[in-house]
Amino acid sequence: MAKAPTKKQRTRWNRLTALGCITCLLLGHHDTPAGIHHCDTGAGGRKDHDKVLPLCHYHHQGDQGLHTLSRPVWEPLYGTEQYLMAYVAWLLGELKHKPDNGGIL
Ligand SMILES: [Zn+2]
Ligand SMILES: [Zn+2]
Repeated sequence: MAKAPTKKQRTRWNRLTALGCITCLLLGHHDTPAGIHHCDTGAGGRKDHDKVLPLCHYHHQGDQGLHTLSRPVWEPLYGTEQYLMAYVAWLLGELKHKPDNGGIL
């Protein structure tokens, strides 16, 4: 069974969702209501509650959703999970330097 997030992780999730959808933000749309997406959960993947992204429904499970398109299709369009995680960490002040996007978005 998946481990429940700690109180500290939940607090961080709240800060992340308060940023709005990270993909929308990079596309210039601010404050799109977002939910938490767990990164790096491959087949039978364990959820790591620290490796999360705020995504709106559209970019998560909707028409342009990461889960809808699948990661290999989604990442070249919207950025890798790795980059987006670094980007939100930078927005939260956890990273000193703005991450390099490798040319996407
Ligand atoms: Zn979005
Ligand atoms: Zn997800």
